[in-house]
Amino acid sequence: MRALAFAEVVGVWDQQISREEQKGVENSADVTFMRAALEAAKVAGEHGDVPVGCVLEFNGDVIAIGENRREVDHDATAHAEIVALREASKNRQSWRMEDVTAYVTLEPCVMCAGALLNARCAAWSSAPSTRRPEPWGLATTF
Ligand SMILES: [Zn+2]
Repeated sequence: MRALAFAEVVGVWDQQISREEQKGVENSADVTFMRAALEAAKVAGEHGDVPVGCVLEFNGDVIAIGENRREVDHDATAHAEIVALREASKNRQSWRMEDVTAYVTLEPCVMCAGALLNARCAAWSSAPSTRRPEPWGLATTF
């Protein structure tokens, strides 16, 4: 039953990303990073977690990838965004993520939205919307 739900969710996201790809080259980088986040989500689903993935991008490079790991790590806070933020912080030796964009396959929950804001992420993009953490985010597009 979990596998069926996982396949359905990933299929919907895959279709959504494909529609964005068809819109043209303007947002091709966004599509590339969102596809990478979707691949991370697939990994989460494969180890029995809800399939959510997150990619952190800085200057056109992926600086961290996280997938939801709550079940496999027995950690309620191991959401994809938190996992990615921890990896990026460790690699950069800084918690500050100014000029970093987070690509998440699911709109961040309250905990993760708070973490992205506290880390000072420049923006986050999630299916189905893109939000910038200026006064609690106004949806633009994705
Ligand atoms: Zn979360």
